[in-house]
Amino acid sequence: MTHTSIRQIKFLDTTLRDGEQSPGAGMDVTEKLSIARELLRLRVDVIEAGFPASSPGDFDSVRQVAALVGDQAVVCALARAVARDIEAAAAALEGAARGRIHTGLGLSSVHLLYKLQMSREDALDSAVQAVKLARHYCDDVQFYAEDAGRTERAYLQQVLEAVIASGASTINVPDTTGALLPDQYGELISFLLHNVRGIEGVTLSAHCHNDLGLATAASLSAIAAGAGQVECTVNGIGERAGNAALEEIAVALALHGSHLGACCAIELSELTRASRLVASITGTAVSANKAVVGANAFAHSSGIHQDGVLKQRSTYEIIDPQSVGASQSSLVLSARSGRAALRHRLEQLGYVLDDGALDQLNTRFLQIADKKSLVYDEDLEALMAEYGRGIESVWSLKILQVSCGSPLIATATVVLNNADGREFITCASGAGPIDATFKAINTLVFASDDSPEKDGRILATTSSCADAALEPGRPCGRHCDLQRFAVQAITRGSDALGEVSVQLADAQGQVFSGRGADGDIIVSSAKAYLNALNRLLRAAAACA
Ligand code: MN
Repeated sequence: MTHTSIRQIKFLDTTLRDGEQSPGAGMDVTEKLSIARELLRLRVDVIEAGFPASSPGDFDSVRQVAALVGDQAVVCALARAVARDIEAAAAALEGAARGRIHTGLGLSSVHLLYKLQMSREDALDSAVQAVKLARHYCDDVQFYAEDAGRTERAYLQQVLEAVIASGASTINVPDTTGALLPDQYGELISFLLHNVRGIEGVTLSAHCHNDLGLATAASLSAIAAGAGQVECTVNGIGERAGNAALEEIAVALALHGSHLGACCAIELSELTRASRLVASITGTAVSANKAVVGANAFAHSSGIHQDGVLKQRSTYEIIDPQSVGASQSSLVLSARSGRAALRHRLEQLGYVLDDGALDQLNTRFLQIADKKSLVYDEDLEALMAEYGRGIESVWSLKILQVSCGSPLIATATVVLNNADGREFITCASGAGPIDATFKAINTLVFASDDSPEKDGRILATTSSCADAALEPGRPCGRHCDLQRFAVQAITRGSDALGEVSVQLADAQGQVFSGRGADGDIIVSSAKAYLNALNRLLRAAAACA
């Protein structure tokens, strides 16, 4: 297929909204602003910044992202088709130079019958009222027909005609459950383009999920069929198996633009940086074999492949690693680099810090630099992952001392500071040094308030701790369950930082991720565990 005209496809990035819905990927405002800055460098067209009606924190994030973005991109806020949501979205977007309200509802039989418990007539009416109300506040309104992939066509067509007539200028056709094959999804887009009255005046948007591993393929199929916008996330994070990955669609468009009759404005050389930033902030690691941004995406291991690539790169590489920013020379800092150089490098990596945070980080940076002389970008990213989240710690690590070996019994002595600066001490034994350390931390954090004090330290014991506090089914904040624990060496050499990421679940099953980095992996583990535990405790305090 050849096309005479090349259409520019708009990219709507929803890392801050759908992406944030990945388990454990919750972000605070500062973290969202860091990602928004990187999305601007990627040159996405639309940033979906959040769902303002869902929480005051989300409302504030949308407001602050809109202020940061200015007129550099459209800032979009999600709202269900109810007045309260639309009003919240409109209020959050008040200061936006180019705001968009994204409203809609589920139209498939299963959504109407079980989730919304609404008749088709009422859903049609809600859709029209929602779009009209959104248009009252905002010229730019996008309508989503949730679960469009499983919605009866004639009804979908009827609703879309009505919302277009009511003023929606972008129509999102989500395959919410990732149910369709790429050609089925492309055919749906094509059907709508040929049958919906008024469709020629609006942009059709593809929103695909990766439940069958087909989100990128389905998005490309939609582009080939005539969709003008794609919705995606960095690293493909999102509900369940995730959303279509921004980096995959962008690179596929760059390689196959003439075949698809389409191009995009995405700055490909930012893809690796964006991927690392999002992985670091959300605590959601990218698998090594992930297309475009995985650690092995450009690694050649077999002798035949290596021989080929050395003779001519294109023998086994369709993507030039340089073009996606994968092999940019990583600038190395040392203890003599200074605070300004540290700030500059962090900004290049996507992090912007206020003076207080920079001071804290600089102190930690100097400790690391003294120990391992050369500090790589990956080390800084690990520090940011720890520090970006640790600023309002409830508990912090003061002393950790472990003894272990074979046939020794692994024992950990831990001293923690609470938010008031009081010191708590205990020791525990375990299956290994990390198990012993986590047990000691649990004892300290979940100890009762009447533990005895000795030499200025509060002595927590397992009996004062009520071990039952850690059993399943305890109320909010008194329970945590370690769901994931992963250690990774960052950079090279045996003095490399070890980075640990953990995920803890509370009694309701809500997941909190934490990361920690140190030259000693037991210390990294303790920091990561505390980092996640602090988030869990903050959430519990907020819900109490
Ligand atoms: Mn979605």
